[in-house]
Amino acid sequence: MEQKILVRKIFDEVINPGNCFHCGLCEGLSNNLFKMKETTKGPIPKLTRKPNLQDINDLKKIIFACPGRGVPYNFLSKKLEAKKKNKVIGNYNSLFICSSSSKEIRKKASSGGVVRSILLELIKSKKVDYVCVLDEKKNKILKFDTLITNNLQEIIDISQSIYQTTPLLHKLKKLRKNKVYCFVGLPEHIASLRILKIKFPDEFKHIKYLIGIYSGTNMYPGAINFFLKGNNINYLNEIKKLNWRHGEWPGKLRIILKNKRILSLKKFYYNYLIPFFISKSCMITPDFTAELSDISIGDAWSPKLESKGHGYSVVISRSNDFDKILHKLKTKKDLELNKVDLKETISMHAHMIEFKKIGSYIRIQKLKKKGPVPLYDLKPNYVSFSRKIVEDFIGFVIFIFSKPSVKYLFSFINSSLMGYLFQTIRSFWKYISKPTKRKGLNNIKLENSINKRVNEF
Ligand SMILES: Cc1cc2nc3c(=O)[nH]c(=O)nc-3n(C[C@H](O)[C@H](O)[C@H](O)COP(=O)(O)OP(=O)(O)OC[C@H]3O[C@@H](n4cnc5c(N)ncnc54)[C@H](O)[C@@H]3O)c2cc1C
Ligand code: SF4
Repeated sequence: MEQKILVRKIFDEVINPGNCFHCGLCEGLSNNLFKMKETTKGPIPKLTRKPNLQDINDLKKIIFACPGRGVPYNFLSKKLEAKKKNKVIGNYNSLFICSSSSKEIRKKASSGGVVRSILLELIKSKKVDYVCVLDEKKNKILKFDTLITNNLQEIIDISQSIYQTTPLLHKLKKLRKNKVYCFVGLPEHIASLRILKIKFPDEFKHIKYLIGIYSGTNMYPGAINFFLKGNNINYLNEIKKLNWRHGEWPGKLRIILKNKRILSLKKFYYNYLIPFFISKSCMITPDFTAELSDISIGDAWSPKLESKGHGYSVVISRSNDFDKILHKLKTKKDLELNKVDLKETISMHAHMIEFKKIGSYIRIQKLKKKGPVPLYDLKPNYVSFSRKIVEDFIGFVIFIFSKPSVKYLFSFINSSLMGYLFQTIRSFWKYISKPTKRKGLNNIKLENSINKRVNEF
């Protein structure tokens, strides 16, 4: 009976109201009870059999660590060894602008190739036995899986960002307890693993390091089909190769077709796909920088660095181990490493931080009226009326553009034209909403919020 109640809890609180973050933990922690199944709203866990008494322990862990129920970030971040307290980017030790010195790594990177430089060092120095990273399956376009590897060339080859909701934690049971692992993941993957590590330290000590990548917006599957349609191509199987961040930073979406035609669109242009395919999960989380990681890495957006090209990452080290690793890589001349201050770190991503810290709060308050929502332990102390109007407008645009009939109509418009129009409207929107959002961000004070999720810890 208890097992049935626990399964129902996952469905009632998370899956049915659409709060699943697609992390794969349900499959990863159970014995073939759940399987992640692809849907138009991202991968969702489905039951594969009836739960039994042996599932109870696993189900309890899943419920405890499910990011779709919310994460008490403030409480958990105090458990990290980071020395400097910050509620906006999470607690941290040091902040850097960083890039790989290896041409091979940096050329193929999303930003500065820092993630892979660190992974290589962890394997070479035997700090971990394996790294767990998201990778495209061989010869399967847009089908992804977690690769557990210690092969240096494989690590170098798995670069670039995958802008599609994808599970990462579905292989947790396959990890060997006598080996040491490092995970690279989005904020939700990192939060889930951190909860497990804090609550069950012995059971999860084999997962030693958590490398988080910044995540602003993510998209449901279908975005690339939509892009193809805007180029008069009907089927995914016409694609031979796809890169989301090809070439000079910030990179282009590049698709090589089997007939040798090449489609490409600049990163800021193909962002036009976002309002059509944005995932709900990225709109109901306050975590942009993977606040519970040991080290977080994102793009170092700044006019000065963008004009230099080549690719730079902003790096938040949250642990002494990673402070040391970064300095070692600098000494070995594997990394270029320069300190940056908190103000600049925040200003590089002011818009997105505001979208997460204030925007997600407003969105969750609205969703609360309809059913269960993820619960967090921080909230902004004040949200202005004008900010709420801005959020109403964003919500309206996403509501309209995510409708299948609207997608269908827009899919016939050429992707380059859509990209150009989107970028122009977006720049204008950023310009007019900047005073409201900046005012909100500058005045932002995050205060504690007590709820039943926080009390579970
Ligand atoms: C969905 C998404 C949204 C993002 N949004 C932002 C943003 O708004 N602002 C910002 O500054 N940065 C964002 N990033 C992070 C940024 O794109 C780079 O991943 C980061 O700067 C690290 O770059 P790198 O050159 O060091 O990584 P690389 O050396 O190129 O390595 C990339 C690593 O990321 C892993 N990876 C790629 N996609 C995923 C995924 N979907 N889930 C789990 N692991 C993945 C790969 O397996 C690889 O290990 C986003 C990334 C993703 C995937
Ligand atoms: S967020 Fe993860 S743990 Fe929660 S229901 Fe979805 S797949 Fe399962």
